[in-house]
Amino acid sequence: MYNPPDAAAPGTSRPRDAGFPLLEVRDLGKKYNSSRESIVAIESVSVNLAQGEFLSIVGPSGCGKSTLLKIIAGLSTATSGSIRLNGSEIVGPGPDRGFVFQGDALLPWRTIRQNVALGLEISGRDREAARVRTDEMLELVGLGEFGDRFPVELSGGMRQRANLARGLALDPPVLLMDEPFAALDAQTREIMQSELLKIWRQNKKSVIFITHQIDEAVFLSDRIVLMSARPGRIIGDFVVPIERPRSSAVRFSDEFRELNREIWEQLRDEVTRANDQSKVATVKGSQSTRRGQRTRRR
Ligand code: ADP
Repeated sequence: MYNPPDAAAPGTSRPRDAGFPLLEVRDLGKKYNSSRESIVAIESVSVNLAQGEFLSIVGPSGCGKSTLLKIIAGLSTATSGSIRLNGSEIVGPGPDRGFVFQGDALLPWRTIRQNVALGLEISGRDREAARVRTDEMLELVGLGEFGDRFPVELSGGMRQRANLARGLALDPPVLLMDEPFAALDAQTREIMQSELLKIWRQNKKSVIFITHQIDEAVFLSDRIVLMSARPGRIIGDFVVPIERPRSSAVRFSDEFRELNREIWEQLRDEVTRANDQSKVATVKGSQSTRRGQRTRRR
């Protein structure tokens, strides 16, 4: 089994010194049960996030990355294990964790300003303070002039900026991002990655960023954790030694390419395994559909 580098030895407890992690995920497991089957999505996942760290989690599709992030966000519950933030167990969603969803996830009937203000409204923030904070966030992500537009009137990149502004509005120390740029074209994606790094630097957030793109993880992160095919386990932990601040040109450097290659080497078998799992799932799905059709014809 893979042991995270900073795991405490069994039976011992680490002193809460300056190196104590902001977020500690310990032995997390999640099983989904339905009437048809049980799926173990993640198993024995242990990972730490340090104060101010940009951590990416990379793994093949369906390996449980979103499941892990949703549990950390408090939007889903674990079957086993625990998560501590600043030493306190996480039991549900909270303003200490901002979540940026896959796709843009904006409410189409609200303006961009109203979307960004949503969390502030729900948390009962004073109206004037919420308005000032919303305007600050819109400026931060370069949407100062677009607050009164509706999501449908903005490009994919702009909607994703609004999404990010919404995640940052409550000023959470931890930002959880679930493949936020997956739907963007390659050029917009690169621009958004650079903008995200700028905002991260200015706002001193601790970030967990989910992606299945290795180059995206290398460009953004201090550290990259790899997950196996389902059930997702941690199978690698890489420190990114590339200096900051990083410009797009860093993508052409030898150290960038070398780290990409090293990570891919470790992940390749897991991607193959995940593809085989999804083929089996498709065949199983079509068999049960045929069975359903036979049953209905009788
Ligand atoms: P990833 O984000 O790595 O693509 P997910 O966390 O979305 O993976 O899913 C991991 C596995 O758990 C997949 O096999 C998926 O089908 C399954 N899964 C995810 N959410 C649910 C759910 N609500 N009910 C049942 N199975 C689920």
